[in-house]
Amino acid sequence: MTTTVQPQAARPGMAVWKAVLLILPIALLSSSQWLPAVLSGQAEPAQAVAFPVAYLAFFVVFVLMLSTGKTHRYRSVLFMAFAVSLPLDFIPWMIKTTGSMMLSESSIYSAGASFCPLTMPMIIIPALLKRIVIFPGELLPAAAHGAFSTMFIIWVGASLATGRGWCSWGCFYGGWDELFSRLRRKPVIQHKQIDRRWIYLPFAVLLAIVLLSAVTLSPIYCTWLCPFKTITEFAAPSSLLAIVQLVIFVALFLGLVVVLPLLSRRRIQCGLFCPFGAMQSFLNKINIFEVRIDPEKCTECKRCIRECPTFSLDESSLQSGKPLITCTKCAQCVDSCPKGAVSYHIKGTSLRANPAVARTLFLVPAFLLMGLLGPGMVAQGLSRIVKLIITGSML
Ligand code: SF4
Ligand code: SF4
Repeated sequence: MTTTVQPQAARPGMAVWKAVLLILPIALLSSSQWLPAVLSGQAEPAQAVAFPVAYLAFFVVFVLMLSTGKTHRYRSVLFMAFAVSLPLDFIPWMIKTTGSMMLSESSIYSAGASFCPLTMPMIIIPALLKRIVIFPGELLPAAAHGAFSTMFIIWVGASLATGRGWCSWGCFYGGWDELFSRLRRKPVIQHKQIDRRWIYLPFAVLLAIVLLSAVTLSPIYCTWLCPFKTITEFAAPSSLLAIVQLVIFVALFLGLVVVLPLLSRRRIQCGLFCPFGAMQSFLNKINIFEVRIDPEKCTECKRCIRECPTFSLDESSLQSGKPLITCTKCAQCVDSCPKGAVSYHIKGTSLRANPAVARTLFLVPAFLLMGLLGPGMVAQGLSRIVKLIITGSML
C-alpha cells in the first residue's frame, strides 16, 4: 500500500536579517522602559537579570515567527507566557501593597487598584451620562500597575490596529484559556458536540452587563462574573454576598478556563463567554486586517474548522472565504491549512495580493501590542521567581 504525502504549502517567512531589522525599533522602544534602570544600577538584582532575559526571549521568538512563517505556534508561546506571568507578579505586588489578595473597599481605593480593560464596555454609558468612571482604579499612571488613562490608550490603539486581534495578541488573561486548551493532544469533547449557537452567548452577556452596569452604576461583570478574579484580586469573603461571589469566580475559572478548554481543546472562556471579546468582535469591522480563505485553493478538508479555538469557522466560511465576526486573528487556521489557502489579508485588496506582505503588515502592530505589554509582565514574573530563589520570598 502506498501513502501519498501531501506537500505542505509554502509559508510566508522572511530572511532572519529582515525580521531582525523589522522588530528592532519595537525592541528599542519597549526596552526603554527598563534599560536605563538596569544600566544605572537602580534595578533590583533579580530585575537586572530577568528583564534582559525576558525581552531577549520575546524578540527571538518573534524573529522565529517572522522568519519561519509559523504565526500561531510562536504567538501562542508568547501569549501563554505573559498571561501566566501576570499573577506571578500581581499577587506578590498585591500582598506587599495591601497585605492580601483579598481587598477591602478602603484598600481598593488606597492602594490604587489597577484598571482592567475588561471593564471598558461597562464604563462607557455611565461615563457619558454621569461623567464618572464606575471602576475604582487610578485615573492617571501613578499606580505600579495599569491606570485607566494608560489602559484606555492601549485599548484604543490595539483595537484600531488589530480589531479582535486583542483577544489573541494583547489580552493578558486569554493565555490561560489557551494554555489549558493546548494541554491535551486529543479532545474528549469533539467540536461537533458543541452547539454553534453558544457563540452568541458572549453578545448576550455583553448586552446584559452594559445595561445592568448603567442602571446600578457598578461594574457588574467584575462584581459577579469575572473568572480571572481568582488569579488577581477579589473582595474579602467577610459577608455571605462576598462568599457567594468568590464561589462564582472560582467555579467560572475552573469551568470555563480550566476544565472545558482541557476537555474540548477550545478557548471556551474567550469564545463562548467573554463579553469583552464580543465587543472586540464589532471592532473587527473597522479594522483593515482580516483572515481570508481562498476558495480556489481550499479542498474543503475542514481541518481549519476543527482547529479554530474560538468556533469562528464553519462550513459557510469555506463558501464565503471569511471567518465569522468572532475571529481573533490567532492564525491557528493559517498555520494548519495544508493547502496554504488561509492567510492574513488587507480589506479592499485583491485576495491574492501578496499574503506575505499582508501578514507582515498585520504582525507589526500585533507585535507592538504584545511587545509593549508582554515582556515587561514576563520579566516581572521572572524576577519574582529569581527573588524567591535568592531571598526565599517573592515580595
Ligand atoms: S481552508 Fe485549508 S484547512 Fe480549511 S477546509 Fe480548506 S483546505 Fe482544509
Ligand atoms: S478563524 Fe482562524 S484566525 Fe480566526 S480565530 Fe479561528 S483559527 Fe484563529
